[in-house]
Amino acid sequence: MAKRITETELILPSLYLMKLNGGRITSSKLIEKLRLIMKPSGEDLDILSGRSDDKFSQKVRNLKAHETFERFGYAQYKGDARKGFVEITSDGKKHLKRNQEILKYLLVNDFEYVDIKKNLKELESEKGKKKRLVFDENIIIQEGIKKIAQVKVYERSTKLRNYAIEHFTKDGHIACKCCSFDFENFYGAEIGKGFIEIHHTKPIFQYKDSEIENTLENALKNLVPVCSNCHRMIHRNWSKPLEIQYLIGQIERNGIL
Ligand SMILES: [Zn+2]
Ligand SMILES: [Zn+2]
Repeated sequence: MAKRITETELILPSLYLMKLNGGRITSSKLIEKLRLIMKPSGEDLDILSGRSDDKFSQKVRNLKAHETFERFGYAQYKGDARKGFVEITSDGKKHLKRNQEILKYLLVNDFEYVDIKKNLKELESEKGKKKRLVFDENIIIQEGIKKIAQVKVYERSTKLRNYAIEHFTKDGHIACKCCSFDFENFYGAEIGKGFIEIHHTKPIFQYKDSEIENTLENALKNLVPVCSNCHRMIHRNWSKPLEIQYLIGQIERNGIL
């Protein structure tokens, strides 16, 4: 049973939305946009009895009622009840900047609601004070610009990708875990050898005080080699990536090769 979202987990995405919106945002816009980027599911979508609000909206409203942002000094509610908005402070901007890369990784790479929540919570807790380094599963797409734009993330992600490829290669071949497609067999060794995409089923981080080797080894259980078609299918519904076993079942029932 997935736990309900907490106010703590809403802090960073809210600060992010304030910043995107020029530093401030109204409560109703905040609810609307948080919904879009966090993709709430489960009990958080239950409607409160006798009201049109659901539990997710209620949590966002609680941020104001409980003065959550003010307590941390990250943002302040201003204006009256009808024209109210919440504005990010300089401490809020610093907090966001410290966690910006991780937040982006969590929100852009299409992880499940439970994983987004869990990691946002850790970021606000003591554990979150340990610096984390992020990866990116899409490094093989638009490689050129990524090489320039985010050298460190690129290098780290490439290392992870190569490690995974080495691990999943059997007898010199690497195939899609879902449909068994083998780029080398299909396109020929010259252009197809070693080509594969690596899907992250859970967010992967390297903690600053741990060795990259440990991170890579531990990450393997959350990495899956997939062909480009299967990878697109997994992420087709951006609000809920498919589970690998589910996709394999679909292919077994429908796939014709
Ligand atoms: Zn496939
Ligand atoms: Zn993926």
